[in-house]
Amino acid sequence: MHNFCINLQRCCFYVPPTPPTPTSIANEDLKEALKHHILSPERMWTLGYPVELEPNSSKAVVYINPPPRPRPLPTHWNVNAPEFVPGSQGDSGRGSWDTTPRSDSDEEVDTVEHTCVRCDRQFQMTADGEFTKFDTCIYHWGRVSESRYSCCKSLVGSKGCTVARFHVWSGTRPGMNGPLEGYVRARSRRGGVYALDTEMCYTSAGLELASVAVIAADGQLVYQEFVKPSSPVVDANTRFSGIRPRDLALATKTLRDVQDDILEFVGTDTILIGHALENDLRALKLLHSAVVDTCAMYPHPRSFPMRRSLRALSEEVLGRMIQCGSAGHSPVEDARTALDLVLMKLYEERASRAILQPYDPLISGI
Ligand SMILES: [Zn+2]
Ligand SMILES: [Zn+2]
Repeated sequence: MHNFCINLQRCCFYVPPTPPTPTSIANEDLKEALKHHILSPERMWTLGYPVELEPNSSKAVVYINPPPRPRPLPTHWNVNAPEFVPGSQGDSGRGSWDTTPRSDSDEEVDTVEHTCVRCDRQFQMTADGEFTKFDTCIYHWGRVSESRYSCCKSLVGSKGCTVARFHVWSGTRPGMNGPLEGYVRARSRRGGVYALDTEMCYTSAGLELASVAVIAADGQLVYQEFVKPSSPVVDANTRFSGIRPRDLALATKTLRDVQDDILEFVGTDTILIGHALENDLRALKLLHSAVVDTCAMYPHPRSFPMRRSLRALSEEVLGRMIQCGSAGHSPVEDARTALDLVLMKLYEERASRAILQPYDPLISGI
């Protein structure tokens, strides 16, 4: 351990004593113990999970709640100032798409207005996903805590500390979204329990799947792939996704390939575990009914739509620091953390029931 760390609990090199993670739950017992944590269809709808529009269709609808906290009003900066030259200070937000915005002399085209998820400014794209003009995105990438951004410690409402070449949007809007095309659903009767996590990048069509990892209930990695987005990449979102532009350039699997691969082992009776799993299922365009979400299992003290972060839950419940490197999130680490959080909850439930009941056959070997 290096000796210049003052706050050991916050130090990424510090490995705290890890509570025993109960991985010895038999698979069938695990399914049984998970049953009362499976989200109801109503809860899934409220949380923003994709829902099948009609039986046997490939179309889904999604209801998106308004953002959980009011974001500060965007301040309009002089984008011609030297510090705002595209790419002059940016991070991964330079965009790997060598796009040329349409010139002002172009004929009138149909445009769609989007709200940037980073800076809240409005911007326009053509129906084909081209930007109508250059307009740099100036934003804070950190969370707000005690009226300050975690990225630069400046006050809420202050000028962004990070510049990216383009604005980006999520691909969804508050309220009803859809019909959304290209969704699949398991048809086989396979069972099993898997934890799943994805990472996404920004494309002209919004957030798209860039990477996926699936962990079996015994903690083994069973599937991991980079995915080639279907639309031009605007920003690889490296700071958060851990995806580098070259990962996307080298990816050969399409979303359709990944859907086919996953449905090789995910069936109608499979229980999928994740943290805010609705985002992953939307990215995968996967309709699934049996889901256990650590956001619901460990609710925020101020209740929904507030949610606790996976990082905070991991530190508090598992005593394990995650997402603390500069390389962004790892879907393998995040999926494994979600699985361990679920196992820990079942372990605690079993322990509390054991006080009331002399014998509990659900969980064995702990
Ligand atoms: Zn922006
Ligand atoms: Zn900042």
